[in-house]
Amino acid sequence: MYKDQIAEFIMSHRDEMLKDIGDLIRINSEKMPARENMPYGEGPYMALKLAMEKARGYGFRTTNYDNYVGAIDMGSDEAQLDILAHLDVVPVTPEGWTVTGPFEPKVVGDRLYGRGSCDDKGPAMAAFYAMRCVKELGIPLKKRVRLLLGTDEECGSSDIAYYYAKEKEAPMTFSPDAEFPVINLEKGHYVSSFEADFADTCARQVLAIASGTKFNVIPEDAVFKISGLDSSDVDCMRAQAGDLGVALEISQDGDVTTVAVKGKGGHAAFPEGANNALTAAISIICGVIEPDCDANRAVIALGEMFPHGDYLGESAGVKMSDDISGDLTISLNMIELDGCRVCATFDSRYPVCGTVETTADVLERNGLKYGLRLTSKTMTKPHYVDPDSDFIRTLLADYEMYKNKPARCVAIGGGTYVHNLKNGVAYGPAEFDTVNNMHGNDENVPIEELTSAACIYAQVIIDLCS
Ligand SMILES: [Zn+2]
Repeated sequence: MYKDQIAEFIMSHRDEMLKDIGDLIRINSEKMPARENMPYGEGPYMALKLAMEKARGYGFRTTNYDNYVGAIDMGSDEAQLDILAHLDVVPVTPEGWTVTGPFEPKVVGDRLYGRGSCDDKGPAMAAFYAMRCVKELGIPLKKRVRLLLGTDEECGSSDIAYYYAKEKEAPMTFSPDAEFPVINLEKGHYVSSFEADFADTCARQVLAIASGTKFNVIPEDAVFKISGLDSSDVDCMRAQAGDLGVALEISQDGDVTTVAVKGKGGHAAFPEGANNALTAAISIICGVIEPDCDANRAVIALGEMFPHGDYLGESAGVKMSDDISGDLTISLNMIELDGCRVCATFDSRYPVCGTVETTADVLERNGLKYGLRLTSKTMTKPHYVDPDSDFIRTLLADYEMYKNKPARCVAIGGGTYVHNLKNGVAYGPAEFDTVNNMHGNDENVPIEELTSAACIYAQVIIDLCS
C-alpha cells in the first residue's frame, strides 16, 4: 500500500531534500574541542542545531539531548521504531578534492558531492524525508517513529552512549549508515598485542622494525634495520619481495642495512583486499636471520604466527568460521621493535561461534610457546539480530518492493552504529558495490540511492508504526 504515493512524494521533493542535505554539508562538523554546551565542539553543534530547526520548520516535535543527540518524533508516545543516523563527519584534506570543495555541495551528473553526502548527512536526511512523506501524506501512525541524529559516530559513539543512559532502546532500530539490504550480524572485535623483552644481541640482528599507524588499518609501509648482511642477503630479500608483491627500497650505512617495504594498505575488516607491508617485512627478514638472539627469535615467532597472506589465522591457531558469520580474520597491523623490546598489535574480527577460550586463550598459549606475552584478552562481542522476526522480514520485503531485487541478511566484519543495540540493524542506503569515497576525497552519493532509500524508509515506517 501507498507505494505510488510515496514514490511520487519523494520524487517531487527530491530537490528540496538535496537543498537540505547541502545546507548541512556546508557546516564542517568534524569533532572539535569541547566548549560549553557543545560536547563535540562548534561544528557538530551547528549541524545539529540546523537539522533540528529544519525539523521544527516542517512541523515535527524535537528533543535535544544536551547537544549530544537530537530526536525528531512522529506518531504516538509509544516507542516502536528508532532510526539512528549521525551528523558528524571525518576530517578532510581539502587539497585532495577535485570535483568541488568538501563543504561546497555540488550535483554533478547523477551524484551529490561533499563531505557527509554519503556518510551520513545524506542518509540522515533521506530518513527525515521518509518521515516528512508519511506525515504530509496524512498516514496516521499508532506508534512512535523517532529519528535520532548523533554527533559523535566517527569518534567512538559517546553520543549514543549518553542518549541510551537516559532513554530506553526502542523495540526496533535501524541505522541508515551502511549498506542494503540488512546487516544483522557484525563480527566480534579483538585487538591485542604480543610483547617480549630482549636481553642479548648477536652479529646479524634485527635492530628495529616500525610499521602501522592504527590498530585497524593494515599497513602500507614498514621499515626495518638489520646488522651484518652481505650482498647475497640483499639479493635474497629482493627475490622474496618480488614473490610477495611488495616493493623494497634498500640503503646501507656501515654494517646496518635499512629496508623500506611498500605493500597495499586496507581496513582490518577487509584483509583480503590488502597486501600487508608488515607481515611481508617479517617474512623477508626471516629469510636472512637465524634464531641467535632474543630479537631475532621474537621476529621469527611473529613470522610463524602471522605468515604473510594468512589472514584467516590458520598458523596462529584460531582459524574458524560459522554459517551465519563467515570466517574469522586477523591481521598484524602495528609493530615497534628496538634493541630492548617488541610490541606487535593485531586486529581480529571473529564469528559468533568464537569465544575467549577459542581465540584469546589459544593466541596466548601459542605466543607463550615462543616467549611472547599477550597483553589483553578483552574482546568486543559479536552483534547478531535474529533474521526470523517481523522486524527483519519487513525490512527485507520493503527493500525488495522498491529495488525489485532479492533481499537478504548480511554479515560484516566492521562494527556499525547499532553494535550495542539488542534489536538494531544497519539498513542501507548504499549498495555494497557503490563507490562513494566514504571518508575519502570527493565523497559523493548517487542521488537515486537517497531517493530510493527515502521511499523504502517511508514504507518501513508505515508498515511498522501504523
Ligand atoms: Zn557513518
